[in-house]
Amino acid sequence: MQSLTTPVIRSLETLPFDVIDQILLASASYADLQAAVLSCHALHGVFNIRKTSILAHTLRLAMGGNDVIAASFRTVRIETRLNLGIANVDQVMATIQTIHEDASYILTAKEYAICMARAHVCEGLEVAYSRSFKDRNTDDCSCLTVAESDRFRMALHRLWLCSAYIQSPVVKPLCLSASTRVPLLYGELSVQAVFDLVHVVGWMGTTVMGCLPPDIAMRRQGKYPLVCLSSGPSNVYNAYQLPQRTDEFLPKISRQLRHRYRSWEHDIDLHREILSRTTAQPAVPDDMSTIVELPDGPGPECSKCQAKPGVCVWDKHNWTHVPRNMRLQGLVDWLGRLAGNYYERHLFLQYLGVDDPRPNYLCIRNTRRIAVALSPAPNITVSSILQELLALPHNVTTTEEELYLEGDGFNSVTDEDLLCLPCLEDLVGSRLPVWWGGKKIDAVPDEANKPKCSFGMECSEQKLADHAYDFNHSCIGQDFGIIDGYKESLRIQRMYTKAGKRI
Ligand SMILES: [Zn+2]
Ligand SMILES: [Zn+2]
Repeated sequence: MQSLTTPVIRSLETLPFDVIDQILLASASYADLQAAVLSCHALHGVFNIRKTSILAHTLRLAMGGNDVIAASFRTVRIETRLNLGIANVDQVMATIQTIHEDASYILTAKEYAICMARAHVCEGLEVAYSRSFKDRNTDDCSCLTVAESDRFRMALHRLWLCSAYIQSPVVKPLCLSASTRVPLLYGELSVQAVFDLVHVVGWMGTTVMGCLPPDIAMRRQGKYPLVCLSSGPSNVYNAYQLPQRTDEFLPKISRQLRHRYRSWEHDIDLHREILSRTTAQPAVPDDMSTIVELPDGPGPECSKCQAKPGVCVWDKHNWTHVPRNMRLQGLVDWLGRLAGNYYERHLFLQYLGVDDPRPNYLCIRNTRRIAVALSPAPNITVSSILQELLALPHNVTTTEEELYLEGDGFNSVTDEDLLCLPCLEDLVGSRLPVWWGGKKIDAVPDEANKPKCSFGMECSEQKLADHAYDFNHSCIGQDFGIIDGYKESLRIQRMYTKAGKRI
């Protein structure tokens, strides 16, 4: 080993100064630069001499153009002062007014590290943004142009500052009134820049909603733009990376702040009439431009409902990038009432080979131990499941299942057809329980001998642990009328309550 590595190190040590300088400048990232500097004395020595220019070069590579750097520097400089403990509002305002967006500022080592960490967050969020607005097939690298990327990143750095203001005990009171908040948050910005901020916050809100289990997302609709503004881009990125911990990264905001939510939306009107409050998706004013230039045509169409939601449409070519709540770990939440059935939930998670994303979701104690052991399905992915959901009509065996699938309207959709988000969600919500019913019997044939609950997957009583254990629920139920169904439901409840069994 020694004889293999030693000559390489020696040759690096003997390289001319300028060549080593160029090697360091060519580092693709800060992590690469750190690794290179620590790898040998020669690189370390040259780095120490050329530290300022090498760090500036690496920062520029990571962050983007001058405008991005200027926005980032202002944010970090003001944050540093806020963290130093400015005691009163007048001092804060005086400080803020003296710090402008300026790319020539020389960062301290601590500020440099913050900027580099944020560059990493910007890169990650930009990939997700590119997937939402530029190219639905965006994989690991953003497809934004340099100008688009700079505008997006500039908005992110300014949003970091907004979140610092909202989180600062001294500055927060200013954020609660539009008359002080608007000059504070947008004072130096053009109307176009404010438009970009609102647009990026709106996108963040939508993106975070796509990380939440569907039942929670439904309840919290409309709340996330302000949560994202308050928590800042780093926490949005963390939630995107670890969606099962979204609540931890993006906690609820105070009631006081929430009550001002409408007035925060109104900031934009105050800055100028940009948003129309009468439409869910504010139109782009004639004199404003979007970060990513919208195509001239209407864009791709959903094959099911004919909606044209831009590039947020999916077919088999981009199923790997469906919203985060449809990742393998989150699919259990798309099982409808079966997700509240401890027996089916346990087996379903075992089959996918994943841990329960919401271990405290079911509050059932002393349940019967599930003796069935299921091996995780090999090579299962979200893409392969979506493929099978569309192919389900060819694989079902009962008339009830056939009729059920005919009713959901997806029988003519193929894996080459585009689906918008609501239709994709309908597909998964409608077919996943049926798909699971077939997979369960294939994996554990004895399950077919269990009596079927007459309500099937729609049974509201499967939350009773013993009922969940005794009956098969991953099947289509009978078509009860409302009254008959209510009586049957009561009968099941009485049966288990009388027997003193576990609920
Ligand atoms: Zn659709
Ligand atoms: Zn039942």
